[in-house]
Amino acid sequence: LNPTNENYSNEEIDVEKKLRPLSFDDFAGQDQVLENLKVFVKAANLRGEALDHTLFHGPPGLGKTTLSNILANELNVGIKITSGPVLDKPGDLAGLLTNLEERDILFIDEIHRLSPVVEEYLYSAMEDFKIDIMIESGPNARSVQINLNPFTLVGATTRSGLLTAPMRARFGIQSRLQYYNIELLSTIVERSATILKVPIDMEAAIEIAGRSRGTPRIANALLRRVRDFAQIKGNGSIDIEISRYALKALNVDKYGLDEMDNKILSTIIEKFKGGPVGLSTLATAVSENSETIEEVYEPFLIQEGFLYRTPRGREVTEKAYTHLGKQNLGKQAG
Ligand code: ATP
Repeated sequence: LNPTNENYSNEEIDVEKKLRPLSFDDFAGQDQVLENLKVFVKAANLRGEALDHTLFHGPPGLGKTTLSNILANELNVGIKITSGPVLDKPGDLAGLLTNLEERDILFIDEIHRLSPVVEEYLYSAMEDFKIDIMIESGPNARSVQINLNPFTLVGATTRSGLLTAPMRARFGIQSRLQYYNIELLSTIVERSATILKVPIDMEAAIEIAGRSRGTPRIANALLRRVRDFAQIKGNGSIDIEISRYALKALNVDKYGLDEMDNKILSTIIEKFKGGPVGLSTLATAVSENSETIEEVYEPFLIQEGFLYRTPRGREVTEKAYTHLGKQNLGKQAG
C-alpha cells in the first residue's frame, strides 16, 4: 500500500483506471484548485485557445494524473502521456510534439526528472510552439525550425523543489494538491464501492478513509483489499466489523502511516532522542533522499501532528511516542 504506484500489478492498474473520475463533477475535494481550473478551461474553450501550460505538484496519489485526464475531457481535446525519465533525448520529445493536434494536452509525469537537454528543448516548444529538428544526416545534416500546433503542457511532480526556475516560470497555471480529509476520502470510498458494485456502510467507509494517509489511491487500494475479505470471510458487503477485521489482518497502521513514515519517527526517537535532527542527517539515517522526505513524507507527518520543524531540525511530538509505544526518556530526565 505504498502511496506511489510502482508496486502495482497490471490488474490493479486497470481497476484503478476504472475508479478514476472523468469530469470536474466526479472529482472530490481540492476545491480551490478545481474552481480555478474550471474558470481557465471555460475561458480557453470560449476563446478556442489552448489552455495555458499547467503544473500540478503535491505528494503521490492525490490526483495529478486524474486531473490531467479531466482537463483533456473538459477541453474536449486529446491527451498524450509520458514521463520525465522516459524522454531520453530531444528526438523522443520531438516525435510527441509534432503529433499533437491543436489544443491537445501533453502530460509529462515526474517532470522534475527531465534531462537538462530535453528540458531546454521543451522551452521553445512551450513558449513559441516552435522546435528545431535535424533533417538528413552526414554532411547534409542541418537543423530546421518547425511550427507546432498550439498545445498545453501539463506537468506533474511530487518534488517541486527540484524543478528548475526557468521551467517553473513557463507554467502559467500552477496548482498544489493537498491531502484529503476523512470526510472527502469516505465519499471517494463510497463512490468507488458503487463502481465496484460492493455494498458498504458509512461507518466502514469512514474507517477505511481514516487509514488512507490522506490519499485517494491508498483509500481505493484498501477498499479493494477489504472487499476481498468481505467476499471470502464475510457476506460480501462491507460493514464496520469486516473492515476492522481486514485492516487488522492487513496490518494497516491506525493513522494510515506507511513503513517509511514509521521509520522516520522511530529513527528520530531511537537515534536522535526525539530530535531536533537536521534533514540531511535524518535522510542518511533512514536511507531516503532529503527531498523525498521533505516533499513526500514530512508534510503528512506534520499535518497529522507527529512531527514539527524547528530552526534546529525535525522533532517528533508526544503523539509519535504514544503511537509507536515508546517512552519519552528525554522528557523524563528533564
Ligand atoms: P502519481 O503522481 O503518484 O501518479 P497522482 O497524483 O497522479 O499520483 P492519480 O493517479 O491521479 O494520482 O490518482 C490515484 C487514484 O486515486 C486514481 O485512480 C483515482 O481513482 C483516485 N483519485 C484521485 N483523486 C481523486 C478524487 N479527487 N476523487 C476520486 N478519486 C480520486
